[in-house]
Amino acid sequence: MEFVEVREGLAKILVPKAERIYDAPVFYNPVMALNRDISVLAVGVLTPRTVLDALSATGIRGIRYTLETPAEEVWLNDINPDAFNLILENVRLNLGVDGERIGEKRFSFGEEKRVVANLDDANRLMAEKFRYFDFLDLDPFGSPLEFLDTALRSVRRRGILAVTATDTGVLCGAYRHACRRKYLAEPIRGELCHEAGLRILIGTVVRYAAKYDLGVEVLLAYYRDHYFRAFLRLKSGAKKADGSIEGLGYLWQDENGRFEYENSFLPRKPGSYGPLWLGPLKSQGFVDDMLKLAWEHPLAHKKTLPFLETLAGELDTPFHYDTHALARRNNLQVGKLAEIIEILRDKGYSATRTHFSPMALKTDAPFEEVLEALKAL
Ligand code: SAM
Repeated sequence: MEFVEVREGLAKILVPKAERIYDAPVFYNPVMALNRDISVLAVGVLTPRTVLDALSATGIRGIRYTLETPAEEVWLNDINPDAFNLILENVRLNLGVDGERIGEKRFSFGEEKRVVANLDDANRLMAEKFRYFDFLDLDPFGSPLEFLDTALRSVRRRGILAVTATDTGVLCGAYRHACRRKYLAEPIRGELCHEAGLRILIGTVVRYAAKYDLGVEVLLAYYRDHYFRAFLRLKSGAKKADGSIEGLGYLWQDENGRFEYENSFLPRKPGSYGPLWLGPLKSQGFVDDMLKLAWEHPLAHKKTLPFLETLAGELDTPFHYDTHALARRNNLQVGKLAEIIEILRDKGYSATRTHFSPMALKTDAPFEEVLEALKAL
């Protein structure tokens, strides 16, 4: 295997040379530097003691947690022996110390800041480390669902679960049967598919967590570059779980683009999409703290800061209006987004851009008012 050295954040890592990222024997995607930047900021704000990077590949994520956050004990795991050997190499390169073998497939590095590299199926490691991690990161190929149950047992009862899902085709309705099978939910197609997909993912975690009497608080959830990411704080207790279940519900949309949603355990009308999470997609205090940290932290991706600013400024209300889709559905001309937002604000409504689409807005104005604003231009 030939390697090249890559710098990201405060880390330098060796990655395999390859024509395309999916051909490489160990996976590294530079586009995901934004995902890792945001994760580093999240860990920086939350200050967990123990962290697991359960699906580590080159080790870049766990190494960045080690170098760029106050975390005291960071575990890096992968099932692929090539990945494990590269993790060992990359940890050595960044910490400047040799590892000590502490198990058949496990090495420990450092003392005050401890790094453990492990070669195993993530589900086996998480089953072994019951209620151990303060922050547990699942960053798989595709869906995180095959790891979700063990992750909920391995994270502490008031810990944080961070999940990535790259199976957007499933969650956004291109593969409807796969969505029913994996997420037990009906996905929607069209302009709401990304927000609905993110909310189906969160809704599924809420249902999985509830059986362990765990509630879920969404610290931050977003869609970007064809993946979903959510930082979820667990809350211990049956009442907390019941409260989170109450945040579930269903979505409807008609051919003009008008949508409705309702909190309910069962769908009350035919043609509904879900179940999905209808609660907040962020804790404003958490995002503001991340933004503050972002201004002083050396970030790897130039889009991380503007993206966080969009997230911080976004109205946190379920679903949005895509002005192009709305114009097409209602035979209207598309006006400038900034002007449509201005018209709604002048009428006393809240309205903001949304990270889900550069053509879309979030507002508390009723559908008719949004159409009026489009017609006014
Ligand atoms: N987190 C990495 C990053 O930020 O660069 C990328 C991880 S990559 C998308 C997914 C990794 O999961 C691969 O390296 C793969 O070998 C590993 N993997 C797949 N199934 C696994 C399993 N059951 N247990 C542990 N690792 C697994």
